[in-house]
Amino acid sequence: TFKALLVSRDENKTQSVDMVELSEDDLMEGDVTVAVEATTVNYKDGLAITGKAPVIRRWPLVPGIDFAGTVIASDNAQWKVGDRVILNGWGVGETHHGAFAGRARVKGEWLVPLPAAMTPVDAMAVGTAGYTAMLCVMALERHGITPERGPVVVTGAAGGVGSVAVSVLSKLGYHVIASTGRPAEAGFLQELGAAEVIAREELEAPAKPLGKERWAGGIDAVGSNTLANVLSMTAYGGAVAACGLAGGMDLPGSVAPFILRGVSLLGIDSVMAPREIRLEAWRRIGQDLDHGKLTALSTLMPFDAIVNAAHDIVAGKVRGRLVIEM
Ligand code: NAP
Repeated sequence: TFKALLVSRDENKTQSVDMVELSEDDLMEGDVTVAVEATTVNYKDGLAITGKAPVIRRWPLVPGIDFAGTVIASDNAQWKVGDRVILNGWGVGETHHGAFAGRARVKGEWLVPLPAAMTPVDAMAVGTAGYTAMLCVMALERHGITPERGPVVVTGAAGGVGSVAVSVLSKLGYHVIASTGRPAEAGFLQELGAAEVIAREELEAPAKPLGKERWAGGIDAVGSNTLANVLSMTAYGGAVAACGLAGGMDLPGSVAPFILRGVSLLGIDSVMAPREIRLEAWRRIGQDLDHGKLTALSTLMPFDAIVNAAHDIVAGKVRGRLVIEM
């Protein structure tokens, strides 16, 4: 047997979270079984465990949307026992038993190889949040937003997506403007490579149709007024990659940035992203994310800390990335 977190709900839809012992017979369908060596608490895991948003859609369920580990059984030609793998998304931790357990059984096609230079802990220090930050950087690049075009703003900068985005953009030579609601984290953000740190409040009021052109691009983990303001302050021909909703799911803006400045809004989804894009994102993480910065932005925690961490991340209290070593 192995230790697992299990989220259940009663007839009144009241949710409870328990630490349980499961056996491999309890796992769901799949052709590859993995010994989970590291996992992480993402914002979405926080939503799932606290029940603040309907992330879990099958009950009871082991939450946890990503893990790294070693294959211990495989009926999939692509994977053999001993292979080291990463999983992000595909509904794991939402409709399929997830990462917060000693073992996971999944479809082989959902897995990607652990890059040779990375440990499972490194991969989960990146995790879904960091891999999504890389998807955002790649989207800006595809749109031609090079460092020469001007600054790039990152919102929710002290969080998981934000801190990895700041680190990668600065390594690539961008002038990074980090927006945070936690002024105490300014030093942390400068260490990761932020050239400027601005207060969250600057982007929180209802947006004007157009503002002063402040940046060529943006990576937004916050949504709502923040994203509307980022768009309204994006320079002519610029682009903003939107991946998050930490401040709200709405987008109370106008079309002015799109039709008067040719600004583009680039939508980023990590969950169903095709395999080729995932492989490229992990390759780029190996190349463009400084290992020292990755260590600086991540905190190692034991399995027992997951539930508390879930509450903290939804409350906006987590800095950088949380890694759970099994
Ligand atoms: P996180 O570590 O909690 O980071 C979110 C950050 O947003 C916080 O650290 C905080 O940064 C800021 N924030 C929190 N509450 C806020 C509020 N009410 N108003 C304004 N800013 C607020 O979470 P994460 O794991 O990085 O995820 C960030 C977002 O991206 C989440 O919404 C998550 O669901 C989303 N996401 C989406 C995908 C995808 O596939 N599209 C993948 C991964 C994550 P400061 O304290 O620095 O202001």
